[in-house]
Amino acid sequence: MKYISTRGQSPQMSFCEVLLSGLAQDGGLLMPKEYPQISSATLDNWRNLTYPELAFQIMKLFIDDIPDEDLRYLINKTYTKENFATDDITPVYKLKDNLHLLSLSNGPTLAFKDVAMQLLGHMFEYVLAKQKRTINILGATSGDTGSAAEYAMRGKYGINVFMLSPNGKMSAFQRAQMYSLQDENIFNIAIEGMFDDCQDIIKAIQSDSSFKEEYAIGTINSINWARILAQVVYYFKSYLEITKTSIERISYCVPSGNFGDICAGHIARMMGLPINRLIVATNENDVLDEFFQSGQYRPRAAREVHVTSSPSMDIAKASNLERFVFDLVERDATQIDALWSEVSAGKGFDLNGRIDDIHNKFGFNSGKCTHAQRIETIRSTYESTQVVIDPHTASGVYVAQQVALPNECIVCLETALPAKFEETIQEALGENFPVPRPKQWEGIEKKEQKFQVLPNNADVVKMFIRENIERSQQSK
Ligand SMILES: *Cc1c(COP(=O)(O)O)cnc(C)c1O
Repeated sequence: MKYISTRGQSPQMSFCEVLLSGLAQDGGLLMPKEYPQISSATLDNWRNLTYPELAFQIMKLFIDDIPDEDLRYLINKTYTKENFATDDITPVYKLKDNLHLLSLSNGPTLAFKDVAMQLLGHMFEYVLAKQKRTINILGATSGDTGSAAEYAMRGKYGINVFMLSPNGKMSAFQRAQMYSLQDENIFNIAIEGMFDDCQDIIKAIQSDSSFKEEYAIGTINSINWARILAQVVYYFKSYLEITKTSIERISYCVPSGNFGDICAGHIARMMGLPINRLIVATNENDVLDEFFQSGQYRPRAAREVHVTSSPSMDIAKASNLERFVFDLVERDATQIDALWSEVSAGKGFDLNGRIDDIHNKFGFNSGKCTHAQRIETIRSTYESTQVVIDPHTASGVYVAQQVALPNECIVCLETALPAKFEETIQEALGENFPVPRPKQWEGIEKKEQKFQVLPNNADVVKMFIRENIERSQQSK
């Protein structure tokens, strides 16, 4: 399988090149040249596979530069009961007739991002060792992404992680989760500023190409294709668990931010998985809801972003949307290039003429959810099922119930565990409500923390990175 850029101006790449490179050279996103097609006979043959075996069958269709036995080894090492709490890895629970919850948050940091990131940790280490390279991953986080990356990369050979977070702005749990890591290759940098300041520092460092090259600076943000690929697996897995025959069609509702998770559903559907509708759920930051209702894509300015009780969905623009629009315009790279130069110019675009295809050919629909609706959904879900859902998942459950068609079976993706967002859960269920917390996280706030506070200044951050990379090279 070769990979091409949505903007059409980059040479084709193989999977391992794509894994380490993030964006294509022309600024586009990398996409598989074609979608392998899965027949219903193949689906039937996959019905009894374990999660790792199913993951192997799907991923090998997209990866031809890692030998089968190595790929299987990396997958088997990742998807274990030890790492994800169950043998099923991503079990499905029924909330009520025709509404299921796909449980994705049993990994080390209690959010769905672990499912992909844990595999990436092993893949990075493997590919870097083969190429005799090292990498220094630089990132900014307001919570979930940073901790998922750190828990995936901790202790990995040839990899350092420098993660910027806004000092004092994350929840006590999120802070403890990241800062309590004592691994030598993990560097938590608490910036005296906001999340946007952290991102600006990253951009400043990324634009210094000689620094980037000298210190082998890389990223693993949400546009990484390998993350999307790893997420395709659980659409297949849950489909096979819920259906009895491979002609039944089901729908998925996905709490969305950067459009990565639901993009994996789009890929699964393009491969022939019988998905009826893909329902995008947003919070008050509704740039995606607007697009899927009207065809108009109007990215917001950073200052227009609402700070909500579902912070991982608080986005101004959705980076992975370009992947879907590429398919929508029949993979016309020239058109994508034109559309996204409008986006860069701060304008956006209008594909209202394609709204029929968006809804009918590609099955996309959407809805949005406010804070009050999340609180009410957490409460009503708990009252009727005894299941506590987190505020992101609640946005999905709310939207699924709003848009459900008669007899439509909808699977809502659970994107985090409630333990990460105790305050909001207690707002919904009572201030003394005992929010369930997995055993390994009990008392996490009391553990010793390791982090460096730095001023909001890119040069100071650069100096810190440089010194620590040089120190870690000397100690090898
Ligand atoms: C990252 C995240 C999302 C959004 O996922 P995207 O792939 O960016 O659309 C939703 N909920 C939680 C809890 C997350 O961590």
